[in-house]
Amino acid sequence: MHLPEVDAVVVGSGPNGLAAAVTLARAGLSVQVLESQPTLGGGARTLDLGLAAGIVHDICSAAHPLALASPFFDAFDVRSRGVRAIAPAASYAQPLDDQPAAIAWHDAERTAEDLGADGPAWRATIGTLAQHEDLVVQLALGDKRSIPPALLDPRTLTAAPLFGALVGLQGSRAWDLPFRTQRARALLGGVAAHAIGTMPSLGLSATAGLLSTIAHGTGWPIPVGGSQAIIDALLADLRAHGGQVLPGHHVRTWRDVPPARAVLLDTPAGAAADILANRLPSSLERALRRFPHGNAAAKVDFVLSGPVPWRDAEVGEAGTQHLGGTREQMARAEAQVAAGRVPEHPVTLVSDPSVADPSRIRGGLRPLWAYAHVPAGDTTDPTEMVTRQIERFAPGFRDLIVASRGIPAAEMPAHNPSLVGGDISMGRVTMAGMIARPTARWDPYRLAETGWYLCSSATPPGPWVHGMSGWHAARRVLQREFGLRQMPSLSPSPPSASRRAGDRD
Ligand SMILES: Cc1cc2nc3c(=O)[nH]c(=O)nc-3n(C[C@H](O)[C@H](O)[C@H](O)COP(=O)(O)OP(=O)(O)OC[C@H]3O[C@@H](n4cnc5c(N)ncnc54)[C@H](O)[C@@H]3O)c2cc1C
Repeated sequence: MHLPEVDAVVVGSGPNGLAAAVTLARAGLSVQVLESQPTLGGGARTLDLGLAAGIVHDICSAAHPLALASPFFDAFDVRSRGVRAIAPAASYAQPLDDQPAAIAWHDAERTAEDLGADGPAWRATIGTLAQHEDLVVQLALGDKRSIPPALLDPRTLTAAPLFGALVGLQGSRAWDLPFRTQRARALLGGVAAHAIGTMPSLGLSATAGLLSTIAHGTGWPIPVGGSQAIIDALLADLRAHGGQVLPGHHVRTWRDVPPARAVLLDTPAGAAADILANRLPSSLERALRRFPHGNAAAKVDFVLSGPVPWRDAEVGEAGTQHLGGTREQMARAEAQVAAGRVPEHPVTLVSDPSVADPSRIRGGLRPLWAYAHVPAGDTTDPTEMVTRQIERFAPGFRDLIVASRGIPAAEMPAHNPSLVGGDISMGRVTMAGMIARPTARWDPYRLAETGWYLCSSATPPGPWVHGMSGWHAARRVLQREFGLRQMPSLSPSPPSASRRAGDRD
């Protein structure tokens, strides 16, 4: 197919690709997005899988702490664009076998009260950080090459060392500190395990610090109608500013991309090396290919005839459940995954979106989203192991299953080529990797002299739906390739109000 010449091409329509495309189009550039799949949105799509009439499923992301807290989406003002995102009363829950579940309520104080002996420690650490959510979010989601504005605010001076200390302790063998009870340790361990990896480690403890802070601030909102609502808002803005989006266009080599002054790849690092084979400095090409992938998720989408019958009813008030038992049990399961074995009781994440959004229930049926941590490339159908893990904390669950679809890790790339081997983070989540992904360079976004950039979660700040990698990359493109010093506004406004790229300072 012959594609017309444009100012900028974005390869991939995931949240980062669209964040980049919107930023560029807002600056007045002509922008084209090429997407390999027939559907748009990458890891934030909501699809009808044909399991039950009217029931739609979030095939990747479901809960959106970072989309709502992210500086990109804040500037884009996603809520004022018709995206209704509702934070459940409890952000996440950690059911346990032989004691009451631990629950991270949206309300930090209620959480601390429920945690008993560890209430004061939770209040002093996570509770305090939640009061400085802006700082924690800016530290975690920045490009790691500039000073987050909140760090210069004297009111946040104590929060940064507190965040550092929490991440340091929880990421080391001193991770018993400062919490004394199994319940508090498991509550934090479950949220750390989001990053899939060895416990304890700094990559996982930074994840826990960030996500648990937001749990008591913004909360863990679920968009009404599904994650696709976020993508649809980005697409509407992009199209309103002249952007073109072409689904079903898989880019294998640079020759598949029309001539453009800038090309931004919302792809894994290895795919970028393939697309630009022999056109990159050989050391960079080697480094991109070497950037290690993490272990995997194997997804199960269920249709249920009723709510999950959690043994501990309060668990059902959370938008996300972390199933794995105690911190030690989860650490064992993650160690087995790291050793290449499928655990008998894998760490499993579960979300019933109708807890926040009852419109997801149709004809008495509801979707349930779940995935288990398994080794990269594993071929096991996860349906039975996920069902068993839910039954462990919700006896009778099996009887509610009306339909299900399990996707082994090895098959995850079939609906998104960026999920290499089932890796949902486009690379192993480590502290060094968050700063220097995919390689240790001052500008991790720029690939080549000729205007090629990486804008996916393979660049800082890394995984999750926040749009920040796309935004960081696009701002560099505007400065370096188009000479813009003033960045475009992203707030909802008529297209005519946007600056043209030619209007240079
Ligand atoms: C099962 C699962 C559950 C998750 N749960 C959550 C959650 O609850 N909350 C959260 O915040 N995050 C979650 N995530 C992570 C989140 O989805 C990703 O971090 C996020 O989508 C990354 O955005 P991205 O734009 O970098 O990449 P992606 O969303 O992966 O988008 C990349 C896009 O590029 C396209 N593409 C790739 N290669 C090519 C090519 N060569 N040519 C053309 N197009 C190409 C892909 O098809 C895809 O559309 C989850 C992920 C998975 C898989």
